[in-house]
Amino acid sequence: MTVTVVGGGAAGMMAAISAAENGNIVTLVEKNDRLGKKLFLTGKGRCNITNACPVEELFDNIVTNRKFLYSSVYSFDNEEVIRFFNENGLKTKTERGNRVFPQTDHSSDVIAVLKKKLDRLGVKIMLNTEAVGLERSSDNTITSVIIKRKENKDRLLSDAVIMATGGRSYPLTGSDGTAFLLLEKLDIPVNDCEPSLVPLVCKDADVLSMHGLSLKNVSVSVAKNNKELFSGFGEMLFTHFGLSGPLILSASAFIRQKDYKSGIRVIIDLKPALSYEELDRRILKDFEEFANRDFSNSLQKLLPNKIISPVIKRSKIDPHKKVNMITRQERKQLCDVIKCFPIPVIGTRGFDEAIITRGGVDIKAVDPSTMRSRSVKGLYFAGEMLDLDAQTGGFNLQIAWSTGHLAGECR
Ligand SMILES: Cc1cc2nc3c(=O)[nH]c(=O)nc-3n(C[C@H](O)[C@H](O)[C@H](O)COP(=O)(O)OP(=O)(O)OC[C@H]3O[C@@H](n4cnc5c(N)ncnc54)[C@H](O)[C@@H]3O)c2cc1C
Repeated sequence: MTVTVVGGGAAGMMAAISAAENGNIVTLVEKNDRLGKKLFLTGKGRCNITNACPVEELFDNIVTNRKFLYSSVYSFDNEEVIRFFNENGLKTKTERGNRVFPQTDHSSDVIAVLKKKLDRLGVKIMLNTEAVGLERSSDNTITSVIIKRKENKDRLLSDAVIMATGGRSYPLTGSDGTAFLLLEKLDIPVNDCEPSLVPLVCKDADVLSMHGLSLKNVSVSVAKNNKELFSGFGEMLFTHFGLSGPLILSASAFIRQKDYKSGIRVIIDLKPALSYEELDRRILKDFEEFANRDFSNSLQKLLPNKIISPVIKRSKIDPHKKVNMITRQERKQLCDVIKCFPIPVIGTRGFDEAIITRGGVDIKAVDPSTMRSRSVKGLYFAGEMLDLDAQTGGFNLQIAWSTGHLAGECR
């Protein structure tokens, strides 16, 4: 078969490799002047290729539509991804949290391995080439991809087309969402896209005053009204617009844009290692030491400087009250704030800061055992353009490799 793969990211390159290994004549079309522009940025330039956890755990880290991935992941799982890269000359190492990286710490080496494999398999790579249309016959079978290079349009006749054009995050890398319009013309349903694994925005002046403060070893939960959407432990950061850091990005994966209208609160436990009673004893100890000080000058040993004033304000205890005058009830108020420091969140930052996109091609329109469109014959999908998303840790690239590999079989 003549197969055209649209999109030269992780999913598209893997799909082209798989399609060529299955004996097809393959063309890979990429609108950028090079392959893997986003892949180059991954893992802060080190590329967290996948996660070496047991495969069941891998599914636990898929946030949206995990069941859809059973066939693709079991047919090309994390072990096979690692084997693929190792056999093709990329040594890997496994770090904290089972995160797998190239031993060289260079994402460019991951791209180089894929590029070399594409060349060896004779895949024709067309750079600076944008797919601007998809054509089908009267019996709804894909026939060709209309491409644009500089100002010239051309037609690539294709028995099969694999769409791997990514989501909408980091649009400067090429995944700007325009390819979804080509699908909508074929009546393929596309769910609304939202930024995910993205920093959160607050307008509370107290919170913004803490910018630059990084908190390690805190627990964070996210509540919508009184329903808990997320809870986790780790590191977070206060910024000039609100909240960021690994724990906050993880939390964002569980909040839909519409949830912000109902009121979202991030609640930080600033001392998760201490129970209420232990915290109260610890506060009493500090209060004994600073008995004659104002309350506002008594928390330096317990909390980072930047958060002391917001904690005091939320505790509703007079900052000028002498520590030896603070009542048991007031101490309880203080414990409450330290264990449950609430921050109202009004939304997220945009796609240009989102690690991934939630939403995309509706999985109901796709056969999970082949990645084929259920309506248009010969049309396949792979990677982040599908309505699938996962936590950080190598899981999003695993989605790209697995779905790309299966789509490339063109079954
Ligand atoms: C900063 C950052 C760090 C990340 N780090 C990690 C990590 O360490 N581990 C991990 O698992 N995940 C990571 N991710 C997520 C991961 O990079 C993506 O999930 C993954 O790259 C998606 O691959 P893809 O091939 O589906 O899409 P993309 O990589 O976005 O590739 C899509 C390609 O299609 C091309 N394209 C789009 N439209 C057209 C068109 N009409 N014609 C031709 N070409 C077109 C685009 O130019 C692009 O090159 C990170 C993401 C970001 C932004």
